[in-house]
Amino acid sequence: MPTDQTFVIVGASLAGAKAAETLREEGFEGRVILLGAESERPYERPPLSKDYLRRETTERPYVHDEDFYAANDIELRTSTEVESTDPDASEVALAGGERLRYDRLLLTTGAEPRRLNVPGSDLDGILYLRSVADSDAIAERIEAGGKLVTIGAGWIGAEVAASARTKGCDVTVLEMASLPLERVLGPELGAVYRDIHVDHGVELLSETALESFDGSGSIRSVRTADGRSIEADFVVVGVGVAPRTQLAEAAGLELQNGVVTNELLQTSAPGIFAAGDLANALHPLYGQHIRVEHWANALNQGPAVARNMLGQEIPYDNVPYFFSDQYDVGMEYAGYATEWDEVVFRGDVEAREFIAFWLSEGRVLAGMNVNVWDVTDDIQALIRSKATVDRKRLTDPEVPLPELAAANA
Ligand SMILES: Cc1cc2nc3c(=O)[nH]c(=O)nc-3n(C[C@H](O)[C@H](O)[C@H](O)COP(=O)(O)OP(=O)(O)OC[C@H]3O[C@@H](n4cnc5c(N)ncnc54)[C@H](O)[C@@H]3O)c2cc1C
Repeated sequence: MPTDQTFVIVGASLAGAKAAETLREEGFEGRVILLGAESERPYERPPLSKDYLRRETTERPYVHDEDFYAANDIELRTSTEVESTDPDASEVALAGGERLRYDRLLLTTGAEPRRLNVPGSDLDGILYLRSVADSDAIAERIEAGGKLVTIGAGWIGAEVAASARTKGCDVTVLEMASLPLERVLGPELGAVYRDIHVDHGVELLSETALESFDGSGSIRSVRTADGRSIEADFVVVGVGVAPRTQLAEAAGLELQNGVVTNELLQTSAPGIFAAGDLANALHPLYGQHIRVEHWANALNQGPAVARNMLGQEIPYDNVPYFFSDQYDVGMEYAGYATEWDEVVFRGDVEAREFIAFWLSEGRVLAGMNVNVWDVTDDIQALIRSKATVDRKRLTDPEVPLPELAAANA
């Protein structure tokens, strides 16, 4: 492997750090430069709405030990923002003017929370959650107690609501849809999550639009479009994220819902790759581009893209996977379902110990295990098999899942 090459990674994130690690594991001996705008070394974000937010742990969820980067000759530069990329010159420019030449460039600039722009949006106490610093700021408010209103009942809103409620805060959740998490999971599972939150004492205001934030200097209350005023000591906004495409856009890369890549995670510009929340990658299993905003995607695309930067040409075809923990309910979701015919259940939905399956024309598109463990591999195999399943056998907990995948093999 030539030693005079330089691989630059923009985004000292989970995907970026795993890519750097893999470059070394694969024997790459050139320069690896990992550039990150944040002051922290790469860390994982899921604990920031869960145990880290609840201060059940104060350890920051770093991807690697502090000495890992130096020990592996990875030039990690934190607090370093990349201002532009020049594909013609194969250079990136840092804030401050320094330019770095690259032989391969990886963009793992991730995503950022969508911001609200209603009256009162700049009041103190209206918070967003993406970084460790954001989580620390929300944790401080939770520790102080009082009333939280979350705007949005997606993953961030729902997990922050659960953590704050667990810590004894009063919580109201505002959601435009009729159920929490409905956009991704549909009405059946949305109803399950509604009940989980309501059982824990959360006030859920569904089909409710936000009008404005009221207060003088600091947030006092949240006004809804139908004229209600809800008292709030602090607000957490979780209305989705947008891929950070500014660098890619200025560099002229093809964009559509993120940075478009092929199945090798190569962008439209030679020598430039993208991975993680940023990448809208062609997925061989689905024959379409998919952008996944979840931890496992960053964790696995990092190593995959590193191998492809080294010319190994291995298509990335992992079945999408994510997890969520709220109160005593843990779940894992595998697959990709945007339209389906029906959702069926195996197990006890009332007791919140079950697997839900999203079916289309008798095939399993996705499965979600709730407080049932060690079934993810079987669910993924079932999805990959594209087997037409017998609905009765699928919903019968006595029938082993591998038998269903094998049925059509
Ligand atoms: C609070 C929270 C909880 C979550 N919980 C879960 C969960 O339970 N399950 C799950 O599956 N997923 C969860 N996720 C999602 C998961 O964390 C993300 O999918 C993952 O972080 C994506 O990683 P990434 O490497 O693509 O990018 P990111 O984590 O977004 O990191 C991108 C990095 O690039 C840096 N950067 C951007 N632009 C530049 C630039 N120009 N120059 C230098 N650096 C730059 C940013 O500062 C950032 O550090 C959660 C996310 C959050 C915020």
